[in-house]
Amino acid sequence: MIIVMNLDAGEAAIEAVIRKIRDHGLDVNVSRGTERVVIGAIGDERKLTEEAFSTMTGVEQAIHVLKPYKIVAREWHPADSTLSVRGIPIGGNAVQVISGPCSVETQPQMDLAAEGVAAAGCRLMRGGAFKPRTSPYTFQGKGIEGLQLFRNAADKLGLPIVTELMDVRMLDTFLEYDVDVIQIGTRNMQNFDLLKAVGSVNKPVILKRGMSATISEWLMAAEYIAAGGNHDIIFCERGIRTFETAYRNVLDVTAIPVLKKETHLPVIVDPSHAGGKAWLVPSLARAAIAAGADGLLVEMHPNPCEAWCDADQALTPQELSALMDSLAAVAKAIGRTLDRGKAPRAVASNQPMAESISPK
Ligand code: PEP
Ligand code: MN
Repeated sequence: MIIVMNLDAGEAAIEAVIRKIRDHGLDVNVSRGTERVVIGAIGDERKLTEEAFSTMTGVEQAIHVLKPYKIVAREWHPADSTLSVRGIPIGGNAVQVISGPCSVETQPQMDLAAEGVAAAGCRLMRGGAFKPRTSPYTFQGKGIEGLQLFRNAADKLGLPIVTELMDVRMLDTFLEYDVDVIQIGTRNMQNFDLLKAVGSVNKPVILKRGMSATISEWLMAAEYIAAGGNHDIIFCERGIRTFETAYRNVLDVTAIPVLKKETHLPVIVDPSHAGGKAWLVPSLARAAIAAGADGLLVEMHPNPCEAWCDADQALTPQELSALMDSLAAVAKAIGRTLDRGKAPRAVASNQPMAESISPK
């Protein structure tokens, strides 16, 4: 940290600043110019806050020199980090697409969804068992039963599962069901207790961007997870709130290269919650990969018009497969490879589900 003194700062004020820095266990470098004195604090400046100095007599400004985040910062870890989810790489050269329904509904729905995910060549599956809904009167998710339905469906096809954790009290249950990747949703990006809790487990975490969070706040939220010992963090841009109302959120494509510059961790994009309309998803998905995203989180439902949650933005299994074909070309154009695992199988038929699919 650098502390710039006022033009008229006296020796007593300078001495007080020096003492405060030393009291925090840091060394001091005093530079006396012709007009002012500038004091440098040498050591781990994250222990110091700017306000602790800027409010002192004789101080004009206190400025941090280093980024406030450390473990997640590229300045401390220049090489890209690649995570592994049951042997599937996230980051590096591979581009991964995680797909599945917004919410876990029924076993037939999840079975068909898993078939669609695998048929398109996606290697990981998403689905929410606990849903953060704007209205308390809408479907809130199947809860623990949903984790079981998800596991049953995904295990048949060997797909690792990605699902959202909303409440610290459910963390042990998530571990019991061996959830492969824990998602922290936009509404919980700054739920610091939740971040600390997932920071203490050995499971990769997808940290979605708060809908009104700055990139710096997002990086600090990731630092909370990392500071607990869990460095397997994947950032997920999912659109931010702006004045625009023509679509659900604004996909902040600029955040992708900015984040890739600031952090060594993988960055993925959720075009579904950004656009909020299925027809927007392919364009946003391709833009994200072209801009350097390491993967996508895409909502797909075996029968979108019957989806219990976010029906407007769900792709059909066939649309997902077609999207994967076009993403492969985009990835190739920028020297990367879309990971489709084994050769894609025939697309699952869009047969109606046997069980009633209206919300219970
Ligand atoms: C989701 O992915 O299911 C979800 C609720 O997304 P977000 O937190 O981005 O709104
Ligand atoms: Mn959704």
